[in-house]
Amino acid sequence: MAHIYTPDNPYQFPYRIERVMFDNDNTLFEEPKWSRELHGLAAYFAAKNYFPDLKRADFIEMMVESRRKTGASLDGIAAAYNLNEEQFRQFQYDHLEKLTQRGFFTPNEDLIRGLETLRNEGIPVYMLTHGNLNWAQFTSNEMKIEDHFNEHNIFTKDIVPVNKNKGVDMFEYALDRAGVSPNLIHPERRGEGTVMVEDTEKNLEFSDFLGIDGIIICPENEMDRDFPDYVEVVVPNVVEAIYCVLDSNRLFEAHLLRKCEFSALEN
Ligand SMILES: [Mg+2]
Repeated sequence: MAHIYTPDNPYQFPYRIERVMFDNDNTLFEEPKWSRELHGLAAYFAAKNYFPDLKRADFIEMMVESRRKTGASLDGIAAAYNLNEEQFRQFQYDHLEKLTQRGFFTPNEDLIRGLETLRNEGIPVYMLTHGNLNWAQFTSNEMKIEDHFNEHNIFTKDIVPVNKNKGVDMFEYALDRAGVSPNLIHPERRGEGTVMVEDTEKNLEFSDFLGIDGIIICPENEMDRDFPDYVEVVVPNVVEAIYCVLDSNRLFEAHLLRKCEFSALEN
């Protein structure tokens, strides 16, 4: 059963957490309610680069069809019309950057401090996103967390085209880049000591296959529902996810210390 974290109800992972991986959209920044419309509009403008006379209603039908076939709004359109998927996505994000100039991002001092604390405690951070590098860097700049994310620790769909909810590829790639050796005897334990923070529940299913612990961000009024087994901890926002990891490591270190003291007493 998923653990609902609060500072008064901390969670202890059974090992020290050595690295934290974050989703980007709606995790490292909270998307406003109108975000979905802006993404759709940006995708429409992107499609008009290829089909200048395209009507909005026709494009919406194309997106619906693409989602039905591939689970993603643009992948199916790119495949059906033989468009360069990476370029198509770049066009979309170029438009999205213009559309999110006002009131979309709210920098969060607690997040900035939380990321600093993680890294000061020797816990590297990574970003695993279905977006592309330009968008990830743009959003990091807007959130003033650009000191913590760069081309070396942002892993995007342009690098690993398999969606996080479709396979382990993105997570294996991230573990490779984080220098985590393959576990040939227990591949399902390779990711132990790694946490993945997400706002999309189904994106945690395949990270769980590798032993990566999933923390889900969930609005407080929805927390009492059931969560799948691959969700380990539930938090209301990304800052609490960071506190959860820091608290767990403190509890773990205190536990180790007690164990050492106990065995010293025994000897
Ligand atoms: Mg997300």
